[in-house]
Amino acid sequence: MTNTPDPGRVVIVGAGQGGLQAAISLRQEGHTGPITLIGDEPGLPYQRPPLSKAYLKTGVADQLTLRPESFFEKKDITLRPGLRVDRIDRENRQVVAGFEVLDYDQLILATGTRNLRPPIPGVERALGLRTLPDARALRDALDTPQRVAVIGGGFIGLEFAAVARALGHTVHVAEAAPRLISRVISPEMSARFRCLHDSLGTVLHLGNGVSDVSGGGLVLSDGTELAADLILLAAGVRPNTELAEAAGLMVDNGIVVDTRLRTEDPHIYALGDCAVFPDPATGRPVRLESVQAATDHARAIAKTIVHDAADPYAAVPWFWSDQADWKLQIAGLATASDDSVPVGEDTVLRFAGNRLTAVECINNAKIHMKARRLLAQPDVPTRDMLARETYDLTSF
Ligand SMILES: Cc1cc2nc3c(=O)[nH]c(=O)nc-3n(C[C@H](O)[C@H](O)[C@H](O)COP(=O)(O)OP(=O)(O)OC[C@H]3O[C@@H](n4cnc5c(N)ncnc54)[C@H](O)[C@@H]3O)c2cc1C
Repeated sequence: MTNTPDPGRVVIVGAGQGGLQAAISLRQEGHTGPITLIGDEPGLPYQRPPLSKAYLKTGVADQLTLRPESFFEKKDITLRPGLRVDRIDRENRQVVAGFEVLDYDQLILATGTRNLRPPIPGVERALGLRTLPDARALRDALDTPQRVAVIGGGFIGLEFAAVARALGHTVHVAEAAPRLISRVISPEMSARFRCLHDSLGTVLHLGNGVSDVSGGGLVLSDGTELAADLILLAAGVRPNTELAEAAGLMVDNGIVVDTRLRTEDPHIYALGDCAVFPDPATGRPVRLESVQAATDHARAIAKTIVHDAADPYAAVPWFWSDQADWKLQIAGLATASDDSVPVGEDTVLRFAGNRLTAVECINNAKIHMKARRLLAQPDVPTRDMLARETYDLTSF
C-alpha cells in the first residue's frame, strides 16, 4: 500500500518524443488512471532526428514511428492525433481542443518548438525541416539535381547539407556567425566541422547572413548572389509557449518550470524543447533541444506524478549529430565563454574556471560514455585534476 494520492487523469499536450515518453513512463511507474495524449500532427508519434539524416538519404519512413498502434491499446493510452489544444482553463482544470473539452488532474505540456522565420524578404520561399511532411518534401526535391542553399550553419542545416552533397547536389551554406554551430560547440570543434564540410565540397559562407531570398536564390549581406533551386531555412526554432502564456503561466524563452519540472501551477508540468528548467549543474535557466532532455524530463515528471517524488531533476545533458561519417557527441552543457582544451584529434574538453562543463568528441563513443558517467558523479574531476592526467578522461 502507498499513501501517495491518486494522480487521476493525466492529459499530455504534444505527441512528440517527450509527450509519448511521458505516457510510457507514467504506465511504467504504475499509473493506472486515464492518460490522454493529444497531438496536432496526424498519425502515430515519430522521432525527428532521422529526418535530417537517414530518412533524408533513404526515404525509408518505417523506422520513424516510435510505437505501433497496438501499443496504445495495450497500455490503455488514448492517443488523439490531429487534434490541436487551443486553450487551458486552469480554474476548471480543463483543456479545450476545438469543440472538445477534456478534464485533467495533471497536465503535461510537451508542445516542442517551431521553425523561426527571420524577417528576411522572400524567406517564405525557403523550406523548413521540422516535421515528416517537411522531410518528405525535401526528400522528393533531392531526387533531381538541385542547386541547394542552406540558411544557417547549425546542426540541422549541416546535416542536411552533408546528405545533399552525398546525393551529388551542389550545396552552399550561409551562416551569419563567423563559425559553424557557434551556439553549441567550441571554436576548435567548429573548425573541425568546417574542414569536414570543405572536404565534402560544400561551399561555406561564414559571417555572411542572408539579406534576401529572391526567386533565383539567396543574396548575402556582403552582396554575394547564390543561385539556388532548393533553399532550406535552418535558422533556429522558437518554443511553442502560447498555450502556457495565455493561461497565465510564466514564460521566458520557454515555459518556466522548477527543479521538478513543474510550472507555478502545481497541476501543470512542461518538458522537452518547450521547457526552461534549472540546469542541475549550475541552477541557471536553460532550454535544451534534444531527445535526451525530452525523454529524461518525461521520466522525471512521471515519477513525480505517480510517486510524488521530490527529487530534483538531475540528468546530465547529452546530444549527438551525424554529418557524413562523423558522429559528434556532446556530454554536459557548456556556455559560449567556456574555455576549450583540445585532446588529440577528436575530443575537446570545456571548462568554466576549474569546473568541467562538457566534453565534445567525434566518433568516440567510449570517451562520450565515460564523460557522461564522470559528469553524473557528485565529485566531477576538476580541471586541475584532469590536467595532471594530461586530460585523459579514462584515467578517472
Ligand atoms: C530534423 C531534426 C533533427 C534532429 N536531430 C536531433 C539529434 O540528432 N539529436 C537530438 O538529440 N535531437 C535532435 N533533434 C531534436 C529533437 O527531435 C527534439 O529535441 C525532440 O523532438 C523534442 O521533443 P519534444 O517532445 O519536446 O517536442 P516534439 O518532438 O517537437 O513534439 C512536440 C509536438 O507537440 C505538438 N504540438 C504543439 N502545440 C500543440 C497543441 N497546441 N496541441 C497539440 N499538439 C501540439 C507539435 O506539433 C509536435 O508534434 C532534431 C530535430 C529535428 C527537427
